[in-house]
Amino acid sequence: MSPNYYSLGRDTHYWLNPLYFMAKPKEYISKEAGWEDAWICICGNTPPDGGFYPCDSEGNEMEPTIESDWDNLYVCADCGRIINQDTLEVIGRNPHPKMLV
Ligand SMILES: [Zn+2]
Repeated sequence: MSPNYYSLGRDTHYWLNPLYFMAKPKEYISKEAGWEDAWICICGNTPPDGGFYPCDSEGNEMEPTIESDWDNLYVCADCGRIINQDTLEVIGRNPHPKMLV
C-alpha cells in the first residue's frame, strides 16, 4: 500500500466504494438559503427543472418506502449525481440512472 493510502485517515474506508472514486474530489450541491427543498445541483439542475429522485446507492430511482433500504439518497435527473440528502454530499454518479416510469 502506498503512503497516500494511510494519509487519508478516517476516510480510508470510502476508497472501498467504487462510486466514491468516481466523485473525487468531494463535491457538494448547494441549497438556497432558508428553503429546505431548493436544491441546486453542480450541473445547475433545480427541482423545477429536471428535479431530483429518491435512488439507491447505484443512482437508480427507487420508491423510498419504510420497507425499503433507502439511504436518504437522491439522484439528479440531469447529470446523474447521487446526493446524500443529509449532508448534500455527492457520493457518486450514474450518468444513466434507471427511472421508475
Ligand atoms: Zn445535476
